[in-house]
Amino acid sequence: MSEANSAARIGFVGLGIMGQHMARHLLAAGHPLRVYNRSADKARPLLDEGAIWCDTPGAVAAGSDVVITMVGHPHDVEEVWLGADGILAHASGALLIDMTTSSPELAKRLAHEAAKRGCRALDAPVSGGDVGAREARLSIMVGGDAAAFDQALPILQRMGKTIVHAGAAGSGQHTKMCNQIVIASTIMGTCEGLAYARAAGLDLDLVLSCIGGGAAGSFQLNVMGPRIVKGDFAPGFMIEHFLKDLSIALAEADRMKVALPGAAQARKLYMQLSEQGHARDGTQALARLYGAAA
Ligand code: NAP
Repeated sequence: MSEANSAARIGFVGLGIMGQHMARHLLAAGHPLRVYNRSADKARPLLDEGAIWCDTPGAVAAGSDVVITMVGHPHDVEEVWLGADGILAHASGALLIDMTTSSPELAKRLAHEAAKRGCRALDAPVSGGDVGAREARLSIMVGGDAAAFDQALPILQRMGKTIVHAGAAGSGQHTKMCNQIVIASTIMGTCEGLAYARAAGLDLDLVLSCIGGGAAGSFQLNVMGPRIVKGDFAPGFMIEHFLKDLSIALAEADRMKVALPGAAQARKLYMQLSEQGHARDGTQALARLYGAAA
């Protein structure tokens, strides 16, 4: 039996904004699904649909052929993979896939630790937001060895549409950093454009519907723009997580001696918002600083 076919037993750790939808697609595809999340209540809807609750990440791994993690920060990944009740202490021969946005260095370390225990590990962060997770339209960028990628592909295809093997361990996370660097300047541009439109007395919805179909079109303009106009700052993608990503990207860029003035400016602005108590708002709340919001 191929471990990636529909009978593969899958474990899923991290059932937040993204993970709950991703896990649901796997369950719907017929995979037996074991789950764990720090706050147990977030697992309830999936348990009602047939998933099996486990008390630790280790217990998830012990009964799974494939284990997927979608937690928050690199320290969360370390805890669920390397902790005493963690995945690596209990997985036997499983394919392990971390889909959290985390650091390339940690991805390399996990691949190394997994190999020491007879497991294969991939870093496979995603892009496409809460909408992409709900609609199984994520872009997934994968680092790790090619055989492990081939094995993971049918499972990743349940959650995403564009799935790329980016290279060796850590390459998925590096690719995701490119994505976050582009978003940093795009969301600033979206807020600036809307602030200008508001000051000029234009109809913001009309502006969005017009320029969203032209050369300025982007996920930030087309999905976050309407949320900004409505004053809807619910996450989507939390500022706290974007700050984590920008810090990783800027540290890597520093190490490689690449200047990222757009990303550096975005981090400064998001830190300001975070200090004002908006860390758990969506990234579109940047509009508050530009006066672009309703
Ligand atoms: P989220 O809603 O905070 O989900 C993370 C989940 O992981 C939470 O339910 C959290 O538990 C759980 N968790 C964290 N640490 C844990 C631990 N040590 N043990 C067990 N469970 C743990 O965040 P999200 O928006 O789904 O994002 C998840 C990851 O994907 C982040 O790295 C983010 O940067 C990345 N990402 C997000 C988006 C997006 O649009 N949201 C898009 C692309 C990538 P609690 O319920 O107790 O908090």
